[in-house]
Amino acid sequence: DQIRPKIEAHIREVKDFPKKGINFRDIMPLFTNPQLVNELCVVIADHVRHTVGHVDSVAGLEARGFLFGPQVAIQLGVPFVPIRKKGKLPGATIEASYQKEYGEDIVAIQEGAVKSGDIVFLIDDLLATGGTLRAAANLIQKAGGKVGEAFVLIELAPLNGRAKLPDVKLTTLISYD
Ligand code: 5GP
Repeated sequence: DQIRPKIEAHIREVKDFPKKGINFRDIMPLFTNPQLVNELCVVIADHVRHTVGHVDSVAGLEARGFLFGPQVAIQLGVPFVPIRKKGKLPGATIEASYQKEYGEDIVAIQEGAVKSGDIVFLIDDLLATGGTLRAAANLIQKAGGKVGEAFVLIELAPLNGRAKLPDVKLTTLISYD
């Protein structure tokens, strides 16, 4: 709770990016303040310990989930599971598809990265329509794992991405109307 205004102060609003009419929330200014990034990852790890409980791994979504996921995993002393776009991870993979604004996208994890019964803490930077996080949750469930919690720094509330995740406990640090 104490960290929220500090994080909020580092989020930049960029109008008309990546195209006209979209109000992009840029989290990159946060990384000009390494101490705050570290504080944030420690706070997230404490939150996992106290409210989620035991987790077997932390999964993060390409690309901005990779900015936080490994740091939280290191804090917790558990493996980090990268979730990437199809075709990026070598070896055997498990895939899940989701609808994007234009057409379909596919995300993947490496086979064996999530084991049957694993409890996974899922992290990304932002929840918009919820398609990305839904696909990630499907992927973890397909591998036999359970999403202990999905966590995003920012929720764009009017897009109601939350509705796509009725079976997942979802925590957001900052919500924009
Ligand atoms: P969704 O699938 O929920 O519609 O979109 C969420 C995904 O798109 C996330 O992986 C997130 O990184 C990216 N995204 C969409 N809009 C924004 C935005 O305004 N700011 C940032 N930082 N990421 C966004």
